[in-house]
Amino acid sequence: MKKLSIFLVSLLTLLNVQSLFGWGPVGHDVVAAIAEQNLNKKAKKELNKLLEGRSIVYYSSWMDGLQNSPYWTAGYNQTKTWHYANVDKGYTYQTMTKNEKGDVVQALTTLTDELTNNYENLTDSMRQDYVKMIVHMVGDLHCPMHAGKLSDLGGNRVKVKWFGRQTNLHSVWDSKIVESARSWSYSEWCDQLDRTSKEYKESVMCGTYEEWFVETVEGAARIYDYVEALGENPNLSYQFVYDFSPLLEDRLLVGGYRLAYVLNTIFGGR
Ligand SMILES: [Zn+2]
Repeated sequence: MKKLSIFLVSLLTLLNVQSLFGWGPVGHDVVAAIAEQNLNKKAKKELNKLLEGRSIVYYSSWMDGLQNSPYWTAGYNQTKTWHYANVDKGYTYQTMTKNEKGDVVQALTTLTDELTNNYENLTDSMRQDYVKMIVHMVGDLHCPMHAGKLSDLGGNRVKVKWFGRQTNLHSVWDSKIVESARSWSYSEWCDQLDRTSKEYKESVMCGTYEEWFVETVEGAARIYDYVEALGENPNLSYQFVYDFSPLLEDRLLVGGYRLAYVLNTIFGGR
């Protein structure tokens, strides 16, 4: 029994070691589920046809799984850097050092443009891939540490403890804070968050990828300031969850609304 629990603990520790890939599955599912509830009729119908009856929630983490799929070496490895855009203090998206392999803002812009202006020339499988990637990347674009500093690889090099266990700041924001804040399933998160007014929705369902990136950078800056003030390798726990739950909820909710906005714009008028 003891051996079994040691094995399970090691296995869970291993599974927790995801570093570059954005919200964990629950966060991505929440964003996609909120988006799904806010799709217009036409977009819903078009997406249902394109995804052969599967929902956008079903594919929300598909892009994270690519690395472990046989497709990775068959061309999909070019998507490796498309989950984030790291930027050091004082730079904007325009002035920052760009990753020549691409970043989340550039990839979203390109794929959205393809689906909007080149739809007829794409195969069904390309259309499906682009939608699955956009669903995932709009989530990543709203995950604060995916616009973290270039100098510390988006918080991957910032050592922190999480409830006493050694980890890094990137990993805290990808999944640990989501799991610690609530014990809700993705659909419970969705039901609890998606209760805002029509006016509020309209106020966030607009803008560009670059503008949304600026917001994410601001969120990341707040987190950096907070953590730096605590000194080297701080132990983050209940107080951090309490202090950053509003930001966490805002990012998941706004990410969901904006994903609906993107998909409504691409497919809603088709
Ligand atoms: Zn990702």
